[in-house]
Amino acid sequence: TVLAELLASRIKDVPDYPKPGVLFKDIAPLLADAEAFGALTRALADRAAALGATKVVGLEARGFVLAAPAAVAAGLGFVPIRKKGKLPGEVFARSYDLEYGSATLEVQCDAFAPGERVLVVDDVLATGGTLGASLDLVREAGALLAGVVVLMELSFLPGRERLLPHLAGAPLEAL
Ligand code: 5GP
Repeated sequence: TVLAELLASRIKDVPDYPKPGVLFKDIAPLLADAEAFGALTRALADRAAALGATKVVGLEARGFVLAAPAAVAAGLGFVPIRKKGKLPGEVFARSYDLEYGSATLEVQCDAFAPGERVLVVDDVLATGGTLGASLDLVREAGALLAGVVVLMELSFLPGRERLLPHLAGAPLEAL
């Protein structure tokens, strides 16, 4: 599509970052381009409306940058899912395995009112660990998962497959 081509043209491949053998997808050029960032924001806001979302959730840190303007454009509130120890008050926490060790994500227990429908947004779906833990957190916090939208899916990794049980039928779209 025209949108996919515009977005892809503004993403930079950086070899051997953050370590040798990894090809990092850098979204900084996309964020710096008003036309591309605007088109991405409108596409995310359209998805939120189409899915009947009542909140947009972003994952620290790049997910914040994409989800927050989309929430505003859709007339919705924004909820952050953060790395361990960053959110005050009572939180739900989920850990997931990394290549070496593990990571923990958290959401505030009172983030959602009963019956809320959530769109979850992140920049990249790689192995699916980050999104898998996040989708579980959304449910644990009492919200209904309306759908997931990522800017990019690294389709040579089994991220989508790993995410399937966490999606429980909700749609996953890569722009
Ligand atoms: P996963 O948990 O699916 O393996 O990794 C996804 C998370 O790592 C996302 O939150 C994303 O921000 C980050 N990530 C992994 N690879 C890349 C990449 O190539 N580019 C960017 N921008 N983020 C990445």
